[in-house]
Amino acid sequence: MTKELKGIAASDGIAVAKAYMLVQPDLSFTKKTIDDTDAEVSRFQKAIAASNADLKLIRDKAAASLGEEEAQVFDAHMMILADPEFTGAIESNIKDNSVNAEQALQDVSSMFISTFEAMTDNAYMQERAADVRDVSTRVMSHLLGVQLPNPALIDEEVIVVAHDLTPSDTAQLDKKYVKAFVTDIGGRTAHSAIMARSLEIPAVVGTQDVTTSVKNGQQIAVDGLTGQVVVDPTDEQTAKFTQEAKTYADQKAEWAKLKTSETLTADGKHFDIAANIGTPKDLDGVLDNGAEAIGLYRTEFLYMDSSELPTEDDQFEAYKKVLETMSPKPVVVRTMDIGGDKHLPYMPLPEEMNPFLGYRAIRISLDRQEIFRTQLRALLRASEYGKLRIMFPMIATIQEFEAAKKIFLEEKDKLVADGVKVASDIQLGIMIEIPAAAVLADQFAKHVDFFSIGTNDLIQYTMAADRGNEHVSYLYQPYNPSILRLVKHVIDSAHKEGKWVGMCGEAAGDPIMVPLLLGLGLDEYSMSATSVLKVRSLMKKLSTADMKELAEKAINESISNDENKALVEKAVHNK
Ligand code: PEP
Ligand code: MG
Repeated sequence: MTKELKGIAASDGIAVAKAYMLVQPDLSFTKKTIDDTDAEVSRFQKAIAASNADLKLIRDKAAASLGEEEAQVFDAHMMILADPEFTGAIESNIKDNSVNAEQALQDVSSMFISTFEAMTDNAYMQERAADVRDVSTRVMSHLLGVQLPNPALIDEEVIVVAHDLTPSDTAQLDKKYVKAFVTDIGGRTAHSAIMARSLEIPAVVGTQDVTTSVKNGQQIAVDGLTGQVVVDPTDEQTAKFTQEAKTYADQKAEWAKLKTSETLTADGKHFDIAANIGTPKDLDGVLDNGAEAIGLYRTEFLYMDSSELPTEDDQFEAYKKVLETMSPKPVVVRTMDIGGDKHLPYMPLPEEMNPFLGYRAIRISLDRQEIFRTQLRALLRASEYGKLRIMFPMIATIQEFEAAKKIFLEEKDKLVADGVKVASDIQLGIMIEIPAAAVLADQFAKHVDFFSIGTNDLIQYTMAADRGNEHVSYLYQPYNPSILRLVKHVIDSAHKEGKWVGMCGEAAGDPIMVPLLLGLGLDEYSMSATSVLKVRSLMKKLSTADMKELAEKAINESISNDENKALVEKAVHNK
C-alpha cells in the first residue's frame, strides 16, 4: 500500500527503484536439547560451508573494487572458520552437552570474544574479537536460515534503506547500483550525508520510520531535493518522480556549461569556489565540476580507509597526488579529525558520554604527538608539489593553535636540516567551528594566516543541537541572526588583520546562504564538488552591493532563521 514519508533532504537527486534493506535481521534463538548430536554437528558443518562460500564471494568482490589490502579482513574471517580450535570446540560442545548448534556457537564465540577483549594491551588480539563476532554472526544466520545484508554484493539497481549508515557503510555503496539511500536517523551534516553528496547519491535521512515502513524488494521513490519518500508509489506518482528527475538532469546539464568559466558576480567580482574532498579518489569529481581550489581535504578518511595508522610514505603519496593534480590552485589540507562520528577500528577511543564534545581532532593530535608529527612530516614533504595550506580542526584556544604551530615548525626544521625540500609559503590556518574561537576571532586573526568557518560544527555547538540527531534538526539554522553575527565577526576580524576567510561547512554551498555570505564579504566558498556549478550559476545573478544591504537586514532586523530564509527567497529566488 502506498505510504508517504518525510525526511531531511540530504543529497540532491531523484530516484525510483526497489528497496534493499540494509538492516540486521533478528538472530535470536532458543536453547534446545538434542538427541541426534551427529546430525546437529553436520547441520553446523553445512552452516560453516555456506559461510565460507559467502566470504569467498565477498572477498573477491572487495579485492576487485577496493584492492587486495581491503580484502584481507575476509581472509582472516575464513581462517577462523578453518581453525579447529574454534569449530572443534563448538562440535564438542554440541556432543558433550547435547545442545543445539546455535547455543554451542554462542557459548564458544562468547568465550573467544571475551578472552580477546580482555587483552587490553594487545590491539591485534582485540581486533580478533571483532573478527570472531562477525564470523559467528554469519554462521548463526545460516543456522537460522536468515539472510545477512551486504552492500558489497548488490548487483542490481536499488535504493538502500537503513536505520543509519556509518561513513564506512557509505563508502562501500556502489553508485552504479545504489540509486539513493534513505535512513531512519541522521541529519544533513552527518558525515554519511556529506559523503552521499560527494558520491552524487541522492539521499533522504531522518525519516524516523522508513525501516518499518518498507519491505525488502518493495518499490520506493526518493526525492533528495525535498526529503519526500513514497513507498509503493502509484503509477501517477512514479510518473511525477520520473518527470522531476528529468527536470533536475536538464538543470544539471545547464550548470555543466559553466564548468570552465571563472566565478564572477553580476558586478564582475571574482570569488573562488572550492571543493571539499575526503580522499584523492574524489579528485575526478572536483575536476568534472570545475572547482577553483580545494578548500577542505578531510584527511581522517585516509586513516579510516586503512587497517592501521597510515605510514608517513602512504600519506605523502596521497597529499602529493592531490597537490600535484590541483597545482597551481591552492589546497587546504585539514589535519586529522578523528572522534565524534568518525572512528578508527585500530585505535579504540575511550567510551564517552558526548563524543562530539570529547576527545577528537586537534585534542588527539596534541596528545598523541607521534601521530600528528607523522602527518605534518608527510605534508611538509608533499608541499613541494603544489600550493599547500594546512588547517587545524576544532581549535578552541590560541594556545592550542600555538602548540600545533610549534610542532609544525619543529618538524619543518628537522626536515630542512636533513636536506629535504619544503615549500616556503605554507599558510597555517584554523577551522572556526567552536564558538569560543568565533567570539575571539579578532585575537586569533593576529596569529593565523586564514580562517575556514565550519558551520556544521559551529551551528551544532552554538545551538547546542547534535548535528546527527533528527529530533533536533530544526535547530540546524544557518540563517539564524545569531549564526550570521558570528560569521560576520569572524570575517570582519580576519579582514582587519589582512587575512582571508573561507567557509567549508555545508552552508557554503546552500543557495539561501550564498547571497548572505556574499553580502558579509566571505572570500572563499568550499563545498561538495557537486554543488560547485550550482553556486557558480547563482553567483552570476548576484551583485555584491545588493547582497551587502540584504545581509545587513538579515543581521540587524530579522529575529529568525525562517524570516531570513524568506528574505533571501524573495530578493534572490523570486519566491
Ligand atoms: C564543519 O564542522 O563544518 C566541517 C567542515 O568539518 P566536519 O564536517 O568534517 O566536522
Ligand atoms: Mg567540523
